[in-house]
Amino acid sequence: MKYFFKIYLVLGLFCFTSLTYVNAQDRQYVVVLDAGHGGKDPGNLGNGYKEKNVALKVTLQIGKALAKYKYIKVVYTRKKDVFVELHDRAKIANKQGADLFISVHCDSHSSNAYGAGTFVLGLSGNRQNLEIAKRENSVILLEEDYQKNYDYDPDSPESMIGLSLLQEENLDKSLSVASFIQSDVVKNLHRKDRRVRQANFLVLRQTVMPSVLVELGFLTNKKEGRYLNSKKGQNALANTIAKAIRKYIDRLRLNTIENTEDVVIPNVVKTDKIEFKTQIASSRRKISTKSYNFKGLKNVQRVRVGKYYKYYYGISRSYKEALKSQKLAKKKGYTTAFIAAFKNGEKISVKEALKLL
Ligand SMILES: [Zn+2]
Repeated sequence: MKYFFKIYLVLGLFCFTSLTYVNAQDRQYVVVLDAGHGGKDPGNLGNGYKEKNVALKVTLQIGKALAKYKYIKVVYTRKKDVFVELHDRAKIANKQGADLFISVHCDSHSSNAYGAGTFVLGLSGNRQNLEIAKRENSVILLEEDYQKNYDYDPDSPESMIGLSLLQEENLDKSLSVASFIQSDVVKNLHRKDRRVRQANFLVLRQTVMPSVLVELGFLTNKKEGRYLNSKKGQNALANTIAKAIRKYIDRLRLNTIENTEDVVIPNVVKTDKIEFKTQIASSRRKISTKSYNFKGLKNVQRVRVGKYYKYYYGISRSYKEALKSQKLAKKKGYTTAFIAAFKNGEKISVKEALKLL
């Protein structure tokens, strides 16, 4: 009996992996490119340049460079000088089931500041990040019915603090693509490194896939403004960013293929340990997992991921149990609690975990 079971399992794994192998080869990765601002919202007007125009030109160039690859599908949130609401930009990406969302902007400052920076959604560590987030987000005041579309008043301090991490699950991937973009732009184009940082951009907050926002440079800086507004600068930035995006996608493809090859090692039947946990919080702060720190939730687990501590509740091997834990966590006030899945301790998507069960 056991023997037959093993055979079936091996056959099953083999069929499954051959299928995923084909999928990894054939599947198209959807990249949504979002040119910041547009139409009635010009963005910043440093040195008389228009952020919306620079962002659009660079974005279209990035798309052109990426579209050459069969395995990449490029989708734009706007291709012309039109106003697109922030939530619609995110909606486009979410509807497409995009693998990656890239928003392109130019920065501004009253000083002579210059340099390129890349942002991922996260806890805002300093005031400067908050100011950028607020400035980029303030566009929603121009939108009609903004109160209906957003549970967010950009002028209230609470909203800035309350901009929570809905994308924790994608943080790692966002950081990886962001660091590719940032280091390539800095190294290859000799831009000043304003590093990969975290900020609460609303447009990033509403997408459900790895997402980054690129600040190409400062239009308000005379020299950099000129560079950003030049064809040469735009081409260089677009091609470099496109290459970095492709590097990230190539890595995704490679990983998928490597994983599947891993499973077909003959005579080895892996009994994978699949676990579900409800992630209730993520913070730079190391908090004791005592229940009084977590609204009475018991047996909270703390896991360190990079600079962050993730807090999980309700560790279980059954998805049904996990759903119950999530429901309870939400009831206790962790409204953004979500279920994370793990295979042998390594994070995988819930979809994958359910397939493996
Ligand atoms: Zn902008």
